[in-house]
Amino acid sequence: MHGNCQGREDARREGECGAVALLSTTAFILRVDALSEKDVALTLLTRDGGVVRAALRGGRRRFRRGALLELLTEVSVTLFQKEGSDLARADGLELVRSAFDLASRAETAMLLPYVAESLSTFLPEAETAPEAYRLVRHVLDALEAGAPPDLTTRYFEAWLLRLAGLLPGGTECAGCGRDLSSGGARFDPELPGLVGNECAPSGAVPVAGAALRLLADVRRSRLDDLARREVGDAPSLRALEGLLREVRRRFLGHELKSYRFLETLSGGS
Ligand SMILES: [Zn+2]
Repeated sequence: MHGNCQGREDARREGECGAVALLSTTAFILRVDALSEKDVALTLLTRDGGVVRAALRGGRRRFRRGALLELLTEVSVTLFQKEGSDLARADGLELVRSAFDLASRAETAMLLPYVAESLSTFLPEAETAPEAYRLVRHVLDALEAGAPPDLTTRYFEAWLLRLAGLLPGGTECAGCGRDLSSGGARFDPELPGLVGNECAPSGAVPVAGAALRLLADVRRSRLDDLARREVGDAPSLRALEGLLREVRRRFLGHELKSYRFLETLSGGS
C-alpha cells in the first residue's frame, strides 16, 4: 500500500505516507508477538507514553538473533502512527540496556516474564506512566546489584499495585486514618484498600501483621536500601506475598500465567 515508504527518513517527514511520528522515547520490551512471517508486534512500556503496542518490520529475524528483543531490555525507539491503523509502527530500535545478564541467571530469569506480564496487565494502554517506568529501572538495577529476587518481587508488586490504584496509600486505615501497625487489619477489595477491623465490611480479607510491617518498609524505602539492610525474613515475605496475591486475584479474577510458573518453581524450595 505504501511501497515507497520503507525508509525512516521518508516516514519522518510529517504527513508523508500518512505516517506521523508520535514520539521518540526509550522503552522496555514487555511482549513480542508474531504478526506475520517477518514482522512482530511489540508491547512496550515507554518512558513518555506509557504502554504502547507497535509493529516492528523484520522483527522476527531480530528476535531470533536474540539480545535486542529480550523481555525488559531497554531500547530507544521512534513510534509512528499511520492513518487508519490502530497499531503504531516502531522504527529505529536501538539497544540502551540489555536484560541479558538477568535473563541468563537462574535466580532472576523467571522474574523477567512475570514483571513484564504484570506491567502489561495492570497498566492501561497509552496512559503516561513515568512512575512505573522508574520502578522498572529501579528494580532491574537492584537485581543486577544482587538484591534478593523474592524481596525484589514483593517490592515490585506492592508498588505496581499501588500505581494501578489497587492497593493505594500506606499502612493507615482507609476508613478512619489510624495507623494499622497494631490492632488487626483487613483488605477491603471494594474500596480497594487496607482498613482496620473497626472499619472493615464483612467480606474483607484478614491481613497478617508481618505483611503490614514489611509493606510499611517497602512504602518508605528504596529497594537497594531494603536489600542492604536485609529487610524481610522468609515469613514476612510469604505473608506479604499472600496479601499481594489476594489483591491481584480479587481484581483479575484469575492468576497471571507467569506467576503460576514462578510459584511452581519456588514451591519446591
Ligand atoms: Zn479504621
